[in-house]
Amino acid sequence: MTSRDGYQWTESTGLVKGVPSIGVIQPSTNIGDEQATYDVIVVGAGYCGLTAARDAALSGLRVLLLEARDRIGGRSWSSNIEGYPFEMGGTWVSWGQPHVWREISRYDMRNELEISHDYSRGVNHFSLNSASASRNMSHEEEDRLMESALKKFANVDGELGRRVMPFPHSETHNPDAAEYDKMSVADRIAQIKDDLSPDEHTALLGFVLLCSCSTPEKTSFYEYLHWWALCNYSYEYCIEYLIKYKFKGGQSSFAINFFKEACATGRLSYAFNTPIAAIKDNGSDVRVTARDGRTFKAARLVSAIPMNILKDVAFSPALIPGKLEASHREHVNKCVKVHAEVRDRDLRSWSGITYPNNSLMYAIGDGTTPSGNTHIVAFGGSHNHIQPEKDINKTMEALRTLTPMDIERVVFHNWADDEFAKGAWFFSPPGLVTEHLEDLRAPQGNIYFANSDWAVGWRSFIDGAIEEGTRAALAVKRDLDRSRSAHL
Ligand code: FAD
Repeated sequence: MTSRDGYQWTESTGLVKGVPSIGVIQPSTNIGDEQATYDVIVVGAGYCGLTAARDAALSGLRVLLLEARDRIGGRSWSSNIEGYPFEMGGTWVSWGQPHVWREISRYDMRNELEISHDYSRGVNHFSLNSASASRNMSHEEEDRLMESALKKFANVDGELGRRVMPFPHSETHNPDAAEYDKMSVADRIAQIKDDLSPDEHTALLGFVLLCSCSTPEKTSFYEYLHWWALCNYSYEYCIEYLIKYKFKGGQSSFAINFFKEACATGRLSYAFNTPIAAIKDNGSDVRVTARDGRTFKAARLVSAIPMNILKDVAFSPALIPGKLEASHREHVNKCVKVHAEVRDRDLRSWSGITYPNNSLMYAIGDGTTPSGNTHIVAFGGSHNHIQPEKDINKTMEALRTLTPMDIERVVFHNWADDEFAKGAWFFSPPGLVTEHLEDLRAPQGNIYFANSDWAVGWRSFIDGAIEEGTRAALAVKRDLDRSRSAHL
């Protein structure tokens, strides 16, 4: 099936909207009785909503899952193009991410992973293009450069951040950590700039802005420290956990298992192509109105939609001020992720950073397509922002600026312009997390709020989405059990 989401370009087809994906659900609904009252409605079928719906259905609740798109997966989904899964959003997973790994074990998918890079053949180098110089270096030199720069950046306490943030899943265990949320990445770079070589400066910005896909001024240094702590305070584990292991069959081959398991309970109703306009908590039940006027009701509701979208749904009673303010401030990630299928087989072992003079700043050889071409994945952000579908030629020029390449195909999803995401993975501006994390996590009456954007562990990641979906399903089940036993 072809999703409405995503774009594909080849010379013969030009730019085409929509790409095929095994994540598209057909038929798009299985609702029999539109007047039914459910135990719980889950809005949003990303990993968080899928986990919440599955766990609630497994615990015996009758569940209705409502999703605006034609597919599961939200910000993590793969397109299946000529037998190859291009990852349109979330991609990399690891056993260092506890909730993800629990699910990989549950679905017996540990042998379904592969490593993105392959340095066994081809050019086998890293290109560093700064404003003043361009050079290639070995991947070993790249690692040394990155490690040195990232250590200087994170070393706020003489212990590489370990003293400031000793428990990554309880980030304010040391209350002093909150101070760093007052700082931007630009502020931190200003503190250490005399200690950075020009190469380290470029490499550092290329890497940190790959994490936030924003500008140094808008990126919270605290949030970066949180990622760093999650990655064992080391560059080596940043690579291991953030950008190394992916599913051979793509993210949608993982997500579909959550959906199928929920369906197999016989207690899951669902409707795709159903954007929700309003959610009203009457005290005795919750009513949901879709944009097309259909209404649904349940005893409880899990809102699994992203932070940047909360403000677009009419909640009644209104969202508490902290939730609303966070949603209006928005997280800052405007990632532009572009895949290029290229005829240059030797680029399989290439990676590079071009900063600041390009719209795409970081790229790696990510795979080999069935026809033997190399798959390059490239990232850009707010800095020199481009909208690939509005200027595909400029996008291809940006790819070739990273390194010369002979492009056969381009594939992408414009997350910045996506009305149901308004950005890519969560990355906070200074202040937002310490001021609003608890607001975002708080339930309101019969409505529970869950999303990777306010997970406490791997916030921003698939792991955080599963953490949050698990939390919400359990909270709803306990709440319903309590209130029903009180009425016996
Ligand atoms: P979402 O996936 O955003 O799900 C929310 C759902 O709500 C969506 O399906 C949306 O359509 C739906 N929705 C929104 N509004 C409405 C409405 N009004 N009515 C009905 N439905 C609505 N994570 C990793 O772990 N590893 C990675 O390598 C990685 N790379 C990434 C690269 C990119 C380009 C992007 C975009 C994300 C990446 N992430 C990565 C992050 C990861 O994808 C997300 O954190 C995670 O998928 C979020 O899941 P979620 O269920 O919390 O939210």
